Amino acid sequence: MSVLTQQYDIVRQNIPSDLCLVAVSKTKPVEMIQELYAHGVRHFGENKVQELVNKHEALPKDIQWHMIGHLQTNKVKYIAPFVSLIHSVDRLKLAKEINKEAQKTGRKIPCLIQVHIAEEQTKSGFSVQDIRSFIENRYDFADLEHIEVQGLMGMATFTNDTSQITAEFNLLKELYTAYQSVVPQLRTLSMGMSGDYPLAIQQGSNMIRVGSQIFGSR
Ligand SMILES: *Cc1c(COP(=O)(O)O)cnc(C)c1O
Repeated sequence: MSVLTQQYDIVRQNIPSDLCLVAVSKTKPVEMIQELYAHGVRHFGENKVQELVNKHEALPKDIQWHMIGHLQTNKVKYIAPFVSLIHSVDRLKLAKEINKEAQKTGRKIPCLIQVHIAEEQTKSGFSVQDIRSFIENRYDFADLEHIEVQGLMGMATFTNDTSQITAEFNLLKELYTAYQSVVPQLRTLSMGMSGDYPLAIQQGSNMIRVGSQIFGSR
């Protein structure tokens, strides 16, 4: 067995079997994805539209592609026909654009609302206050008939302070649970990456996005 499949198996074997593991293949060649595909892996994550489109064209069509990076509205049309889940819906304008392009392709596109839980200003997303006001106003995105808001996504601060990371993930879990009272079909809490996924799982994550621990550093 290769180092790549071994590294994948190490992550897979150390997390609950019902937890969705998205292999983040950004910057990595299609050959590496093919190797994991042959090993049975179907969920891959990318953060750039052009790279995602190229890889989708080159690889088997039963791969479930996750868009995890910042998405410009004028590029939504390129991924709308095939993307499995967009994790990075970070503004209403983007949600509306995805809805429009989904309608054109006759799909209902699964989406996650990205929430800014980190200390750093560089990580985008709706603010915690935005989500609290969605909950208070019972806003459920139902006016956007061609997207399905399936859950929340967040990234913790890049720090060695595990108590801070835990507190940030716990906050996102609380927002997720509270928002379920407005949107009962919420079922996905995407949080945790190579450096922090054990903490995310402890706080209730059911989807993790792991790149460097599987594919090596970028
Ligand atoms: C790159 C990326 C990941 C994976 O990061 P690793 O630290 O390599 O596991 C997860 N989520 C998002 C949004 C990313 O951009």
